[in-house]
Amino acid sequence: MGEMIRAMSRDGFIRICSVDTTDIVRRAAEIHKTSALASAALGRALTAASILGSGLKGENDSLTMQIRGGGPLGTITAVSDSAGNVRGYLQNPFVELPEKRPGKLNVGAGVGVDGSLTVIKDLGLKEPYVGSCPLVSGEIAEDVTQYLATSEQIPSAVALGVLVDKDLSITTAGGYIVELLPGADDSLIDRLEENINSAGPVTELLPAYGVEGMAKKILDGFDPEIVGKTKVEYHCFCSKKRVEKALISMGRKDLQEIADEGKGVEMTCQFCDAVYHFTPEELKKLLKAL
Ligand SMILES: [Zn+2]
Repeated sequence: MGEMIRAMSRDGFIRICSVDTTDIVRRAAEIHKTSALASAALGRALTAASILGSGLKGENDSLTMQIRGGGPLGTITAVSDSAGNVRGYLQNPFVELPEKRPGKLNVGAGVGVDGSLTVIKDLGLKEPYVGSCPLVSGEIAEDVTQYLATSEQIPSAVALGVLVDKDLSITTAGGYIVELLPGADDSLIDRLEENINSAGPVTELLPAYGVEGMAKKILDGFDPEIVGKTKVEYHCFCSKKRVEKALISMGRKDLQEIADEGKGVEMTCQFCDAVYHFTPEELKKLLKAL
């Protein structure tokens, strides 16, 4: 379980959501057997999706973040519910690249910059909300800032960090998004930028101060008030029923072919690697119901 904190400046012009996703990224790395680079990229995307998803109002709302940059890691997908619980995967989890500088993974090169970041919000309406912006650096935090500015007209600062040990275990992961609310004065922005610069990277802040301390550090001098504390985890919603739907969507012809082979089929959830078996009898039943 990871902790998520929401805080607000006393004057009400700045809000922050910070989260410790160490356990979440550990789980993701365990499921997808990711390289260090892939852990960092997927971990940053999961962290951003968790924060953005937790801002959704409806209990059944969900948010999908897709990052397509044309880099060797391929497309990254992260899905969050409205409580900030997330799941995700990336196309090529085993890719490694030379470090940018010693100890600094080159996430930007792994993700690429030739593409876009897309956010799909399913708010239970007929059509989902879809917002998209071109990638800035492929480092993900800057790309999310750009998305918030252009698609949602929210000035923000986004920090995401994943520290991977030599043995590929996840030492620390987390991040924060600070948002300026309408009417915020320019002098607030300067002070906030100063705070962010002097605070340093998430991977140092989080182990030193914890998730609440990190939020307070960023809002230092603004008299911050904690307005919410929740727990978040890596959570997949797959079930045999959902996998059945995926099988049905293959179409009658393909399904009939599999059924005719008489061996049944195994379907693996791409988010959590759960395996669902369907016997030839179950496949025949599905075909009958079509
Ligand atoms: Zn699953």
